[in-house]
Amino acid sequence: MEIVLFGAPGVGKGTQAKLLSEKLDIPHVSTGDILRAAVSSKSELGLQVEEIMAKGELVPNDLIGKIVKESLYQLKDQNGFILDGYPRTIDQVSIFNQICKELNYNNVCLLEIQVPFEIIINRLTKRRLCTECNSIINVDNSNDGYSCPKCGTKNSLIQRDDDSFDVVTKRLEVYKERTEPIIDFYRENNCLRMITINGQQDLDKVAYDISSELVKICV
Ligand code: AMP
Repeated sequence: MEIVLFGAPGVGKGTQAKLLSEKLDIPHVSTGDILRAAVSSKSELGLQVEEIMAKGELVPNDLIGKIVKESLYQLKDQNGFILDGYPRTIDQVSIFNQICKELNYNNVCLLEIQVPFEIIINRLTKRRLCTECNSIINVDNSNDGYSCPKCGTKNSLIQRDDDSFDVVTKRLEVYKERTEPIIDFYRENNCLRMITINGQQDLDKVAYDISSELVKICV
């Protein structure tokens, strides 16, 4: 099963992709995760994209296209993929169509998760990562805003650079301007293998809706 996951930053794509990946036993490819790993390791790619990502802007099409093509090529022997974070612009759709043609992926299903922007801003600006246990938590659940409510470590919570209010606002603006037109494009062209899920519900219900709707379109 080949799935492309759409949705603004903060709708829960990463969480749902992970659950789905375990359930269907197909790999999850997140362009954001690949780029963040490159930045952390200070690789050549990381140095090229660090500043762009910190501003919440999109990295160039040729760079990201190459990454996606290589990643999907390596997965040729698997049961499919869940692609999260790509394509994000109309130009990337053309590049993606070309990649799918070359790699013979003919039944890609499109899955969109929707959450209103005001809820996303609240979710993302309060999101923290525990550097000790790697949990993602809401800062409101920490006693002092710095200690992890899961493992109890003091001063272990950090905020992702691109989760600050200004960058989140910028990322949502970029999503609205550059990525939403893709979804409209697919919808206007009556894409048959496309579903939209309400991401405002609790995590298990979102996962349930995704699974039950996917079986209807991905055969
Ligand atoms: P994400 O975690 O998917 O929100 O991605 C984090 C950041 O990685 C984005 O704000 C972009 O700077 C970059 N990025 C991820 N995917 C793409 C893409 N398809 N095109 C351009 N930039 C991307």
